[in-house]
Amino acid sequence: MYKAGSPSASRSAASGAASGNRVSRHVPQRTCVGCRKRDDQAVLLRLVRVSMEGGNAVRVDEDRRMPGRGAWLHPDTACLRLAVKRSGFPRAFRGSVGIIDVERWFKALGDVPTGNEPKTVQPESGSEI
Ligand SMILES: [Zn+2]
Repeated sequence: MYKAGSPSASRSAASGAASGNRVSRHVPQRTCVGCRKRDDQAVLLRLVRVSMEGGNAVRVDEDRRMPGRGAWLHPDTACLRLAVKRSGFPRAFRGSVGIIDVERWFKALGDVPTGNEPKTVQPESGSEI
């Protein structure tokens, strides 16, 4: 008796179960120029290159509306440092750029980027006394 069952019936049942299981969340992913990890565009800071007299500079594009070549960075001092260390900015913007504006933006966050070290400096063992 069961042999008579049409194969199409079972097939449609299987495909019906499979559909609807799809991840429909669609968030654009971008790569941070600092840590090089991909993340939701929404959590990353957009940086854009602007032409200035005497060279290019990077601006923080808080409204994400500025035209021009853009790059993405986590709003995290660690990522800024990594980007500087790994030449992430010149690579992302295809040339040397000034990042004073970006550093200022991070300073406004309350985080002090590279430079002023706190008093807790670990002495290197016996190298220079
Ligand atoms: Zn990052």
